[in-house]
Amino acid sequence: MIPANFDYLAPTTVEEAVAALAEHGDDAKILAGGQSLLPVMRMRLNAPEVVIDLNRIDSMRGVRDEGDVIAIGAMTTHSVIEHDPLVEEHALLVHRAVEHLADLQIRHRGTFGGALAHADPAGDLGAPALALGAQFVIAGPSGTRTVGADDFFIDLFETAIGEDEILVEVRLPKHTGWGAHYEKFVRVAHQWPIVAVAATVKVEGGTIAEARVGLTNMGSTPLRARAVEAALVGQPATDEAVRAAAASATEGTNAPSDLNGDTAYRNHLATVLTRRAVLAAAGADTLAGAGAA
Ligand SMILES: Cc1cc2nc3c(=O)[nH]c(=O)nc-3n(C[C@H](O)[C@H](O)[C@H](O)COP(=O)(O)OP(=O)(O)OC[C@H]3O[C@@H](n4cnc5c(N)ncnc54)[C@H](O)[C@@H]3O)c2cc1C
Repeated sequence: MIPANFDYLAPTTVEEAVAALAEHGDDAKILAGGQSLLPVMRMRLNAPEVVIDLNRIDSMRGVRDEGDVIAIGAMTTHSVIEHDPLVEEHALLVHRAVEHLADLQIRHRGTFGGALAHADPAGDLGAPALALGAQFVIAGPSGTRTVGADDFFIDLFETAIGEDEILVEVRLPKHTGWGAHYEKFVRVAHQWPIVAVAATVKVEGGTIAEARVGLTNMGSTPLRARAVEAALVGQPATDEAVRAAAASATEGTNAPSDLNGDTAYRNHLATVLTRRAVLAAAGADTLAGAGAA
C-alpha cells in the first residue's frame, strides 16, 4: 500500500529537528532508517501529517572514542556499527548482536538509535545496550538530558524519549577485553528472535570475574538476568558452573505467548540460550558442545 500524504522536513541540525517536532507536535513523526516506520505507514497503521527526516544531520552519525566510553550517534547504521573497529574492541557484545540483525539491506538502512527508540521487545539491540549499561542522550526543547539503560525501556514500544524529544547519541561504557556472545534463536534465517541472550563476561585465570547478561523477548522490555550474573561471579568458566547459574535465567521475566512459542517454551529457551551464550562469551563453548540442550 502507499502511505497517506504527508509533509516532509529534512533538518540539518538537532536544534532544527527539535524545533520542528515542537511546532508540529502529535502530527509529526521522526524518520531514521525507515525500516520500522515505513512499513507501518504503508499499512496505514500510522499516518503522520509531517515526517521529520534525520538523515541530513551529520552530527548524529558515527562512532567516537571518548575515553571510558564509546559514543554512537543515533543515526549510525547497523552496517557501520557491524564494521566499526571501536565497537568490536570495546563493545564486542553490540558487534556480535548486530551481525545477526535482519539482513544486509536492512542493516544498511536501519539505525542504532532508530532500533532502540522503536523499542520492539524482540529487537536485537536492547538487551546488549542494557547489559553494557548504555547511557541515552536525548535532546528536547529545554536542552539535552542523559538517561541510564535501567530507566530507558519503559514498556512495549515505549521508552523514556518524550514526544517532543529526539534520541541523539548512545554512550557505551567500554568493556575492553571482555568476551561476548549473542545467542539468537530463530526458526528461519533473518527472523526476529523468538528469544535471544546477550552475554558478556570478564574471565581472569579461568574464573568469571564479572558478568552481564541481557534477555531479548522475555518480557515487554529487554531485561537483565541479574540472578544469573550474580551466580556466575567467582565461578569457573565450566559447563557445570554455567549450567547451574543459567538455571536462574527466567527469574523476573514475563515471557509472551504467541504463534512462535508459548511462555513455557520461551522459559526453556532462555535457560538453554543463557548457558550457550555465557559459555561462548567465556570462550568455553567448545568444551561443552554449544549445541547441547
Ligand atoms: C523485514 C525486517 C526484518 C527485521 N528484522 C530485525 C531483527 O531481526 N532484529 C532487529 O533488531 N530489528 C529488525 N528489524 C528492524 C530494524 O532493526 C530497524 O532498523 C529498526 O527497528 C528501526 O530502525 P530505523 O532506523 O529503521 O528507524 P525508523 O523505522 O525510521 O523509526 C522507528 C521508530 O523510532 C522512531 N525514531 C527513530 N529514530 C529516532 C530518534 N533518533 N529519536 C527518537 N525517535 C526515533 C521513529 O519515529 C519510529 O517511531 C527488521 C526490519 C525489517 C523491515
